[in-house]
Formats: sequence, C-alpha cells, structure tokens
Amino acid sequence: MENIFAKRRARLLAMKAMRENYVPGEKLVTCPHCGGESQRKDVAAALSVCPLCGCHFPMGAYYRLSSVLDPGSFRELHEKLTASDPLRFPGYGAKLDGARRKTGMNEAVVTATGTIGGVRCVAGVLDSRFLMGSMSAAVGEKLTLAIEYAGKNKLPLILFAASGGARMQEGILSLMQMAKTSAALARFSEKGLLYISVLTDPTTG
Ligand SMILES: [Zn+2]
Repeated sequence: MENIFAKRRARLLAMKAMRENYVPGEKLVTCPHCGGESQRKDVAAALSVCPLCGCHFPMGAYYRLSSVLDPGSFRELHEKLTASDPLRFPGYGAKLDGARRKTGMNEAVVTATGTIGGVRCVAGVLDSRFLMGSMSAAVGEKLTLAIEYAGKNKLPLILFAASGGARMQEGILSLMQMAKTSAALARFSEKGLLYISVLTDPTTG
C-alpha cells in the first residue's frame, strides 16, 4: 500500500516539477551568461545548468525538491497556507493572483518532509518566480512551522534561500518574519540538530 502512495507522490512531484520547466510556445532557452540558445528539455535534463557554458539557472521550488529528495518520499507541509492582504495594499491582490496563476503555487515557499539517501529530513525551498521569493507573513509562518516540525521530530533541516527580501506590500508584518524565523532557528539550534542553509540564485535580501 505504502508503495502505491509513494508512486503517486513521485508522480505528483514530477508533474509539478515539469510544469516549472515548461513555458507554452517556448522551446528554446537563452542563457543570460553566454547568450547561447539551448533546448528547454536539454536544460531541464541537465538540472537547470546551461549545456553550453555551465551557468546555473534559477530553479523552481518543486523542481529543486524533485532533484534533491529521494523519489516518492516528498510530502508537502502546510500546502494551503497563503498570503492574505492585511493592509489592503493597492494592487497586491491582483499581483498575488497573477503569481499564483503563473507558478501554480500558493506562496513563495514550499516546505516538505522527505528523505535524502534514505535519511528523513525537512526541506524548505523559496521560489523567486513568486513575487521574487519575498517574505510575506505566510512565508514566515510556513518556514517557522517547518523549523518547529523538524525540531519536534528531531530531523535535519535544509533551507534553500532565493529571495529579494521582505514583501513590501505587507509592511511591518513582513519585516517581523525575519525575527520570527531567526528565533525559531535559534531554538532549533539549541537542540543541537543539523541545519543547512543553501544560498541560491537570486538571494539579495
Ligand atoms: Zn550559457
């Protein structure tokens, strides 16, 4: 039975990862480093590395997870958590809708449990395609919940950063998330558990 569920989960993640590497009507990718054009499927097969010069392209969250976690081990955490518009900031609602449509994601971060080489862990991946991977209250909450889940279950934690910083449309509420996630990480580290922070392109904030 577990085998069937694992297969289903592997297929679901593969589908989500494939969606990130598919742009309707666009078969070629132009490399920002060497300017060369490559087939989109060749770039995807090379794990988002330019086949001509080796430049690393930004990666979507599900594609990153599909390349890091063991097949069939992916289980998403708090998938439904998404940004609200607490300040009723002009145009924010439409921007959120656009980002959700473009990426198929609810928020700029995906958190999940899974295994790497058979070792269970918690992984969080920010996705720069969703409003530059900016930190909203929901992103901060998802990250904090993932950190606390890892702490409670004594699991290693890996966070892949890709962010432009705080989400300005949520004002001080987004700025508070840095303190909240840092405090959660400090509590996690006091337990002596493993935390790996991976900085990916683009991380500016
Ligand atoms: Zn290139």
